[in-house]
Amino acid sequence: MRSAPVDAGALAVAQTAAAAPDWQTLAEVNRPCVACPELAATRQHVVVGDLPLVGRPRFALVGEAPGAQEDETGRPFVGRSGALLDELLAEAGLDRAQAAVLNVVKCRPPGNRTPKAPEVARCSGWLRRQLELLDPPVVVALGLSAAKWFLGPRTVLAQVRARPHEIEGRAVWATYHPSAAIRFGPNGAPRAGLLADLSAVARTLR
Ligand code: SF4
Repeated sequence: MRSAPVDAGALAVAQTAAAAPDWQTLAEVNRPCVACPELAATRQHVVVGDLPLVGRPRFALVGEAPGAQEDETGRPFVGRSGALLDELLAEAGLDRAQAAVLNVVKCRPPGNRTPKAPEVARCSGWLRRQLELLDPPVVVALGLSAAKWFLGPRTVLAQVRARPHEIEGRAVWATYHPSAAIRFGPNGAPRAGLLADLSAVARTLR
């Protein structure tokens, strides 16, 4: 998991986030964040994340960053990737209503580009505090950016998926992002791998 903030913006975010005593306060101080000037200038919403319907999340889903529809609505995983994720969660026997749904970076990068390292570093304080407050026992990192956030910058997805990694007392699974499953089609390896990993997570939660 990313540790030390690397610049003044990251430090300011980390300090503000760490001072938030609960989710509501954290969301309120996260929404006006302008630590990344380019993203703050182009976004419509800071996509803070979704909570489970009740209580502590049974698991957390962590993606890379909001896409166009997420930016428009302010909610994570509501576009095409979200629809496929919902379908595969249901097929695996997992209930999204029991999950926290989060992203490494809370603002949409223009054109859906990959978030830059300083943006990830700045936004890390928000995610770190979200995980502290929500305390999910299981985390599913969707895609390489999320996998690297938890498992380190040299992470190779194919080498770390299909098994849990214990990080700070949580079982962290890294798997494909649903957008990769869409890109490679219904018979591609990412869709099968994502479903297999979600099914494995579901078995540990029974
Ligand atoms: S990406 Fe994160 S750190 Fe950057 S402006 Fe948005 S909320 Fe703030």
